[in-house]
Amino acid sequence: MSASLVGSSRSIADLVSTLGQELQRIHGQRVHKLALDTGFTCPNRDGTSGRGGCTFCNNDSFAPATRRKPPLDVQMSEGAQVVARRTGARKFLAYFQAYTNTYDDLPKLKALWRQALAFPGCVGISVGTRPDCLAPGVLEELARLQEAGAEVWLELGLQSAFDETLKLVNRGHGAEVYFQEAARARSLGLSVCAHLILGLPGERREHALESHRQVIEAGVDGLKIHPLHVVKGSLLAAQWRRSEYIPLSMSEYVSWTCDLVERTPPEVVFHRLTGTCEAQLLLSPLWCEKKWDVINGIESELRARAGPGGAVFFFFFFFFFRGTAW
Ligand code: SF4
Repeated sequence: MSASLVGSSRSIADLVSTLGQELQRIHGQRVHKLALDTGFTCPNRDGTSGRGGCTFCNNDSFAPATRRKPPLDVQMSEGAQVVARRTGARKFLAYFQAYTNTYDDLPKLKALWRQALAFPGCVGISVGTRPDCLAPGVLEELARLQEAGAEVWLELGLQSAFDETLKLVNRGHGAEVYFQEAARARSLGLSVCAHLILGLPGERREHALESHRQVIEAGVDGLKIHPLHVVKGSLLAAQWRRSEYIPLSMSEYVSWTCDLVERTPPEVVFHRLTGTCEAQLLLSPLWCEKKWDVINGIESELRARAGPGGAVFFFFFFFFFRGTAW
């Protein structure tokens, strides 16, 4: 912890909050995310926002043959069985995760969201998307679902608050649209989770800290962070092979993440503190495959920064994060 936080009178257990913990508090039992791929594509590929996609995105994943997914109800049913077997959870959050999950007509989005919410045990939805892909009516419909009692999260991909970086990775939008849309969503009462990537090309620790600072200052309800993955079939892979991009080491990632954790207000919940990637796609950094090594590293560093009084926090962190889907 930073000296100011260690020295504060607040309980150290208040320094990290997780979505799993928050959902358990609200629903009185464990709630697990069910990750879904319902066949969306991305406006950063077809010229709507840009062409070619983000440099870190796997181009092959847009091939029709790789996108044939089971229907929503099948994905939810299979996912729920796996989760129930593994964790005992009987309540779920439908997580529209793959690609840009608002890139379709509003009637189709409405139908998907309502179908997900009708699944037994589903308490809400989490919708991952780009901030430049929120057509009129989308946020309003999400707000309606929330008013009707569903748990609704809007996960907005910012990645970096630096326009130079967003340009470098061909993101197809600048930072400003994130801040506009996050404010609009929150003004409708929606919970916003900002997605940030650590280790983007040309970025150092200071960039990550500044992006995080701006997101917190603007107002946010959740954070999802993960290291940049170099995957097969991406432009970044070619840059990495030419040594034009050097990924973060695990110790750098752990240290940067702990910096962000200690600067995050307790009311902002973490949806994710690291990310994995399919082994057959991942080129670098290979430590990403070992999610629990990363989590354990973050735990250790937080404990070391906290000093002897961190034991309570460590238990809290370990207990809740072990039980969370991410
Ligand atoms: S990373 Fe996301 S936003 Fe970027 S091209 Fe791929 S699907 Fe689109």
